Amino acid sequence: MKNDRKIIFNIKEKRGKPKAFLNKLLVKWQKKLQMTDWKLDLQIVDFKRTDYRQSGDFVANLKKKTASILITWNPFRGDEEYTLVHELVHVLLYDYDKSCENELIKNKVSKAKHDLYLEKLENLAHHLTRILLGRSDR
Ligand SMILES: [Zn+2]
Repeated sequence: MKNDRKIIFNIKEKRGKPKAFLNKLLVKWQKKLQMTDWKLDLQIVDFKRTDYRQSGDFVANLKKKTASILITWNPFRGDEEYTLVHELVHVLLYDYDKSCENELIKNKVSKAKHDLYLEKLENLAHHLTRILLGRSDR
């Protein structure tokens, strides 16, 4: 997911896979996705959105090539690897994504059009994540 609204950092893990396990997955996928030129870290957070239950998010800096992958302590899917890879795909798409968003904002498109863009981006991230994980079920 995109949009980092209402995120609580530095929380204690309350549920889900231990952080050491998630860090191992991060290292594995960073190599697989050929992102070793990125400085990545992983943080367990609490999302306080009320419009939907969010499983992950990211904060990236393209110039510094740094990104934090944010994963909720309360995974509604219980599928942290999916969430992690999905967010890494977002980071890979971020340069392109940011350029598109800047154009949308510059051209003052309607919220509906902006939402459509976000929906298409999500579908792409979802599709690529499934391919990477070798899944057809979700
Ligand atoms: Zn997403």
